[in-house]
Amino acid sequence: MGVALLDLRAQHATIRDDVVAAMMRVVDDQAFILGEPVERLERAVAELSNARFAIGCANGTDALLLALRALDIGVGDEVVTTPFTFFATAGAIHNAGARPVFADIDPETFNLSPQAATAAVTSRTRAVIPVDLFGQLAPVDAIAAALPALPLIEDAAQSIGATRCVGERTIRAGEAATIGTFSFFPSKNLGGYGDGGMIVTQDETLATRLRRLRVHGGMKTYHHDEVGFNSRLDALQAAVLHAKLPHLESWSEARRRNAAYYDAAFADLPDIQTPRIEPGNVSIYNQYTLRAARRDDLQAHLKVKGIGSSVYYPLPLHLQPCFAYLGYSDGAFPESEKAATEVLSLPIYPELATGQLDEVIGVVREFYGR
Ligand SMILES: *Cc1c(COP(=O)(O)O)cnc(C)c1O
Repeated sequence: MGVALLDLRAQHATIRDDVVAAMMRVVDDQAFILGEPVERLERAVAELSNARFAIGCANGTDALLLALRALDIGVGDEVVTTPFTFFATAGAIHNAGARPVFADIDPETFNLSPQAATAAVTSRTRAVIPVDLFGQLAPVDAIAAALPALPLIEDAAQSIGATRCVGERTIRAGEAATIGTFSFFPSKNLGGYGDGGMIVTQDETLATRLRRLRVHGGMKTYHHDEVGFNSRLDALQAAVLHAKLPHLESWSEARRRNAAYYDAAFADLPDIQTPRIEPGNVSIYNQYTLRAARRDDLQAHLKVKGIGSSVYYPLPLHLQPCFAYLGYSDGAFPESEKAATEVLSLPIYPELATGQLDEVIGVVREFYGR
C-alpha cells in the first residue's frame, strides 16, 4: 500500500480531457508567449485575489524579484522577512542587490511575527516580506498597521485563495499587501504543468512597471526604458492553469476536510501538535504540518511503512551557508530554529481517500504506541 506525500497523477486523471484540450488549442494557435491565454488567466487571478491588476511571470521567485525591482529596492537597502520559509523569499532579496534581514516567527502559526518584524526595522529598511506559510495568511494587516510607511510584499506562493478576517472585512491572499506574489509550481494548490508565477497589486503605476519589467523593461519592442528581465508566463501554462482554476476552491475545501480528519484523529496524542489556524483565517493547507516529538524517528518509521512525509524546512535561512555573510549565529531566531527540528508535513492532497488518511493515521499512532 503506502501513501505518497503528493500524487499529481491522481489530480490529473480527474481533469485530463479539459486540460489536454486547452493545451491543444494553444498548440494549434502556435502563439506560446503571453497573449490571450495569459491575459485571461490574469483577469481570473485578479478577481480571485480581489486585486485590480495581475501580471503573469515565469515563476514565483521571479514574482518576488520583479516586485522588489518595481519598488526600486536594491543595493544598500534592507528587506525584513522570515527565516522559516522556502529559500526563494530571501534569495530574491539577495538577487535584487538588497540585504535580507530576518525576524522570528510566531510559534503558533509559523508566520512572521509583527512584533519581531517591527523590531528588525532600521533606517535602511525599504520593505517587509511576510510569507503565508503552508497556506495560512500571515498577519499582513497587523504588519501594515505597525509599519505604515513601508511597502509589503506578500509571498503568497502557498496561499492562493486563502482568506483572513480583518475586523468586518475578509481579505484574500495577495489583496492587502502593496504587491502579492503567487507561484504555480506543480506542488502548489494551483499548480501548472511546469513553472509559472503571478503578481497582483491594487496600484496601477506598479502594475504598469511590472508589465514592463517582465519583458526587458520596455513595452515597445526593441525600445527599453530600463533594464528588466525575461520573465514571461507562457500560454501553455496559462491554459492549463485556467482550466484548473474552477476546481481550486473544491480542492482547497477537500484539503481542509482532510486536515480536520487528521486533527480529530491526533487530538489525543500528546506527542503531536496539529496545525494551529488563527481564528478568522481560512487556510488552503498547501501543507499539513505537525510538530512532532522524536520527529526524525517518526519520519523514518513513516518511510519504512511507505508513507510520504517531508520537513519544511530543516535549516532556517539565517543558518544557510550562502547567508553566512549576513553574520547571524545559531540561536538568533529560537522559534524558527525550534520549528525546524519539530515540523513534519503529512500527505494532505485533495484526492486522498479516507482509507489512505486512516493508513497514515494508523502508522503515526503505531509509532507513538497508541
Ligand atoms: C514555491 C515558493 C516560492 C517560489 O516559487 P517558484 O515558482 O518555485 O519560483 C517562493 N516562496 C514560497 C514561500 C514558496 O513556497
